[in-house]
Amino acid sequence: MTTTELTGAEDIAWDLSDLYESGDDARLDADVQEADEAAAAFRERYYGKVAELDAAGLREAIEERERMESIFTRAIYFAHLSYATNMADAPRGALLARLTEKGAALDTQLLFFGLEIADLDDEAAEALIAHDELERWRHWLRSLRKFRPYLLSEPEEKIFTEKSVSGVSAWDRLYDELLGAVRVELDGNDTSFEEAMSKLYSGDRDLRRRAAEAVTEALEPGLRTRTFIFNTIVLDKSIDDRLRGYQSWISQRNLRNDTTDEAVQALIDAAVARYDVPQRYYRLKAKLLGLDRLSFYDRFAPIGEDPTKVSWDEARDVVQNAYSDFSTEAGDIVERFFRESWIDAPVRDNKRTGAFCATSVPGVHPYILMNFTGDRRSILTLAHELGHGLHGALTLPLGLFNSDTPLTTAETASVFGEALTFKRLLALEEDPGRRLNLLAGRIEDSIATVFRQIAMNRFEHAVHTDRREQGELSTDRLEELWRETQTDMFRDSVDIDGYGSWWSYIPHFMGTPGYVYAYAYGFLFALAVFRKYEQEGDSMVEPYLELLRSGGSKAPEELAQMVGLDLTDPKIWESGIEALAVELDEAEALANEIGLG
Ligand SMILES: [Zn+2]
Repeated sequence: MTTTELTGAEDIAWDLSDLYESGDDARLDADVQEADEAAAAFRERYYGKVAELDAAGLREAIEERERMESIFTRAIYFAHLSYATNMADAPRGALLARLTEKGAALDTQLLFFGLEIADLDDEAAEALIAHDELERWRHWLRSLRKFRPYLLSEPEEKIFTEKSVSGVSAWDRLYDELLGAVRVELDGNDTSFEEAMSKLYSGDRDLRRRAAEAVTEALEPGLRTRTFIFNTIVLDKSIDDRLRGYQSWISQRNLRNDTTDEAVQALIDAAVARYDVPQRYYRLKAKLLGLDRLSFYDRFAPIGEDPTKVSWDEARDVVQNAYSDFSTEAGDIVERFFRESWIDAPVRDNKRTGAFCATSVPGVHPYILMNFTGDRRSILTLAHELGHGLHGALTLPLGLFNSDTPLTTAETASVFGEALTFKRLLALEEDPGRRLNLLAGRIEDSIATVFRQIAMNRFEHAVHTDRREQGELSTDRLEELWRETQTDMFRDSVDIDGYGSWWSYIPHFMGTPGYVYAYAYGFLFALAVFRKYEQEGDSMVEPYLELLRSGGSKAPEELAQMVGLDLTDPKIWESGIEALAVELDEAEALANEIGLG
């Protein structure tokens, strides 16, 4: 991938020497070896003996477990980061492959530690958790032990783990391989699935339609096999849940996400009750595109051309000022990312696409990778990743285990930073057409994160429930459930003719059942925090930074309490969605103003 236009980001490369000098750095091998030896010694010392440890002994064991994980994580982070900027370089690929295998071997060797902690009887465990020695590890220990009621005996767990390789994960891999092999015949050309899907972002409606039809056709051949795989995975999960005693198909996922069935249900109810928001937006978008009604393949179409191009320096200034105006401390941290080369910004051949932040590299600062193209959306991407970066930098003193956040709170700082920056961008833009363009982009992203994910969750819910009650589902039945749950969201705002089999390309349904709602959860939680800041101003800054500093050392409910929010109150979700509705009001008003409404 190359860009001809210069953005000023061309030389903004990260400096990985804070980790290692290169992939050949002798320190890297020494670290891997040290982690390896420490793991063997750890197993030797603690295997089968965790129940005998007193509070001080357990603390020592946890800290040693974290220490060796940190050493290894540093090495594998380096391998990931170095590979991401040049994926065609064979030595980088080989280093990553070697360390990935090593990581899996270390995990297997050390699995016993968590299991033995979960296996402690309640009385002994509570005494340990209450002990001063273990204060720092309270939440970590409680999180681990939450699974206790659902764990089986050790021999049963062993059979589960070993058989899963030839069971559910084999089915998942078969699905991935089948999907990976799908080719799309588009305009007489043989193209990859991703490439055909990318045409849905084209400004040419006829091309979008042809791409969508070609995708539908390409999904047809393996549909019965993918139906069977989905049924098998859903059945496997229902057996697992029954043997372990989980209440519903989603309970295990909720527990992993550090939340409860009730909180998640409240989120789902709140989003479903506001399906009018996507409906209104898609009607507005139809008008902006000059159509009577959107088809499902028009949802991602660009609205006009946004000619606004920004240089790297301009983008940096907007984002830097947004953070600095919010808080000096946050601004200073963000400034270091630019000054000390923690960001890799330009588009380069063989570089990983998209953007990410390597949040907590033990003992070192976070790193950010992005592909800066100079369009306005790149500014928000930069703001998003710097939010993760700020979060990671603030949690560094907590160490690896306590800084790790579940998916439900991992997006707090990124969504917040994006909202701060978006507000600034909007305030700087006076032209109604360009304001509308900005708002539309923002609303569209929010709909994709909130409503689209919740509608997919409703589909999963219907499938898992139906499978448990009625037995195996046919391809027709799956298509019916997909159409029903999509229609609930779109009503008549989007024509979904031809969309029926598109459930079958979503890998999350197979690989991580129940996963999708967490996007909506994380986004709306962060938006609620931002709304609170808008209402209360500077008095929210310190509590918010304190929330970030707590990383994953507290449950999401406790983190929310730190900024005066109650995650068990459905209003938190309603308020986030209302903020979206307000943006939509403004977009509709602007469309009227420029004669497009
Ligand atoms: Zn993110």
